[in-house]
Amino acid sequence: MISADERSSWFKNWPSAPIPIPRHIKKYPGVLDLIEYDDMKVFAGRAYGGGSIVNGAIAIEPRRSHFEQTFPWINSEEMYSTFFPKALKQLKVSQIPEDFFKTSEHYEYTRAAESQAIKAGLTTQFFGNSYDFDYMQKEAKGEVYPSALGGEVIYGNNAGKFSLDLTYLKDAESTGNVSVKTLRKVCNIEQLQDADKLNKLKLEVQVLNKQGGVDAIEYYTCDKLFLNAGSTGTSELLLKSQASGTLNNLNEHIGQHWGPNGNIMTGRNFVHAAGEAQSTIPVKGINMWDGDRDGSKYKIFAEIAPLPLGLETWTTLYLAITDNPERGSYYYDKASQTVKLNWKRSQNEYSINAAKELIQKLAKANGGRTSSLLFSKGFGDNFCYHPLGGCVLGKATDDFGRVKGHENIYVQDSALIPGSAGVNPYVFITGLAERNMSYIMQQDFV
Ligand SMILES: Cc1cc2nc3c(=O)[nH]c(=O)nc-3n(C[C@H](O)[C@H](O)[C@H](O)COP(=O)(O)OP(=O)(O)OC[C@H]3O[C@@H](n4cnc5c(N)ncnc54)[C@H](O)[C@@H]3O)c2cc1C
Repeated sequence: MISADERSSWFKNWPSAPIPIPRHIKKYPGVLDLIEYDDMKVFAGRAYGGGSIVNGAIAIEPRRSHFEQTFPWINSEEMYSTFFPKALKQLKVSQIPEDFFKTSEHYEYTRAAESQAIKAGLTTQFFGNSYDFDYMQKEAKGEVYPSALGGEVIYGNNAGKFSLDLTYLKDAESTGNVSVKTLRKVCNIEQLQDADKLNKLKLEVQVLNKQGGVDAIEYYTCDKLFLNAGSTGTSELLLKSQASGTLNNLNEHIGQHWGPNGNIMTGRNFVHAAGEAQSTIPVKGINMWDGDRDGSKYKIFAEIAPLPLGLETWTTLYLAITDNPERGSYYYDKASQTVKLNWKRSQNEYSINAAKELIQKLAKANGGRTSSLLFSKGFGDNFCYHPLGGCVLGKATDDFGRVKGHENIYVQDSALIPGSAGVNPYVFITGLAERNMSYIMQQDFV
């Protein structure tokens, strides 16, 4: 985090970060991208493994009530007995051992934030993570390379984290049926009108060089196309292909039902030392979503986040998820020939109010104040880590992710979820893909 070099960021001159890092870097295909829409900045992983390379690996099964409200027509019994447990197993999710948590200097920041929350009558809870906690304990003893305890996370972990390249993608590679091409950007999809009515698809692909230029264009033709480019990538590709007249039968839901998963960041100063050495892997959150002692007006789940600057900041940081009902949409802008996001900053009002309620409760019981050095007015409401929607399951696709209007195009990523997962989304995304693919394998690959 502190000594980020060009490997940190996708063709940027400054490291992409929620809190600015004043350090000039050269443009390079680094792992974290920052997509700047007019009123919202979206962080996204750019690597073999996507967001799993840059994420905090927090792995939480969605609340059943939230899942059922989102997709009432899906058999939730099957999701919770089969597909979410399968996702958690494949993602190698475990929980931090409590004795290590209680004694490690690297979790002082979490324990400090937790004691403040308890004093304020709030509920805290552990959650799972795809980080290898056996490895972390060896890091603490100085036996192995320090990754989580060495300040690594949003620019990738060089060890310790079970990112997708070490789980799902490794399994796929071991079949011998997969070839991987990196530094390729798909820029258009065309449904071919052939006499045999095979409905093949043709992809136009840019071959990028390490300065961000385009060295060549490649074309690929395929029988079936699985789009897993994330909420921004999948939506952008479909909308661009629609605008270029090569996918003409997409329906009106493409680009719609977008939301930032109610993301909001905030911090508090001067209550308790947070520790100089911090693990980058969050393990606990404050749950004001399911109620608290004094009752709360807003639903908010605040992950106790690290601020690993290598010095005592007297600050606790929270990355929160709220039940913000507002939705936006992606659209193709003819004038600039780019895809834009229709979202106004004012649409994050629910999240700001929810974060304020949390901060006020903490302040009432503990003193201290909102950290306005980190974010203007104390709240980071103009960026998100969890973009969701744009090609929603059952609306833009059928009930299993087959894109409506075109044969042989499938979507299996965060674009399927309409704006809110209620918790950090990657288990939700993975469980849904497990479910959809189990049916697609039986029905479309006979
Ligand atoms: C900093 C950060 C921290 C996060 N922490 C957590 C966490 O702790 N827990 C959690 O649950 N979630 C977390 N998330 C969110 C989570 O990582 C994402 O929700 C998840 O990765 C989305 O999965 P996806 O499959 O939809 O897309 P992605 O993981 O974004 O994968 C899409 C892939 O497609 C590629 N792509 C996009 N467009 C194109 C194109 N045109 N051509 C070729 N390739 C393309 C991208 O480069 C990327 O590799 C975090 C996200 C960020 C950015």
